[in-house]
Amino acid sequence: MTRVLYPGSFDPITKGHMNIVEQASELFDEVIIAILQNPLKKSGFFTIEERVAIVKELYQRMNNIRVISGSGAAVDIAILNDCKAIIRGLRSLSDYDYEVQLQQINKEISNNQINTICLFADKEYQFVSSSTVKEVLGLDKDISRYVDPLVQERMLTKRRSFNNE
Ligand code: ADP
Repeated sequence: MTRVLYPGSFDPITKGHMNIVEQASELFDEVIIAILQNPLKKSGFFTIEERVAIVKELYQRMNNIRVISGSGAAVDIAILNDCKAIIRGLRSLSDYDYEVQLQQINKEISNNQINTICLFADKEYQFVSSSTVKEVLGLDKDISRYVDPLVQERMLTKRRSFNNE
């Protein structure tokens, strides 16, 4: 049984992330999506609990996809959950620079136990990112090209709650 961990902020999960999850679930027996607090991205749009609820709902019918949350090092979560490797998605050269450093650090801090496998998003998702989705929403424009309808609905509801504060 080959289980892999797909860690990230997923604030929110986009069609680009979902494309990577789909590819990973075809390649491996089980994919665990780990929604982690990124210390560099302090306040999120959704709370971690909201992100977990959304992603769980999206994949409720997929029995080889699990969703967890956590804090700390992704490699520790991978080892704890018996994952063979970490999955990351690559879009562009700028992702590559960051990911290549991250995989080296993850390999070192896990004493060579955890390797990283990069998957490439299909071309229509190459320019989709959580931050641009939030920007487009902030401009009152349609985000349905970038996120699942469920995510769109939750984002609109959340934005209304911000506006009413
Ligand atoms: P992080 O804060 O760890 O970068 P993200 O949620 O932004 O978390 O991304 C998680 C992973 O998914 C990263 O490897 C990122 O490069 C990848 N990713 C994000 N958007 C896309 C996309 N549109 N296509 C492919 N991979 C993506």
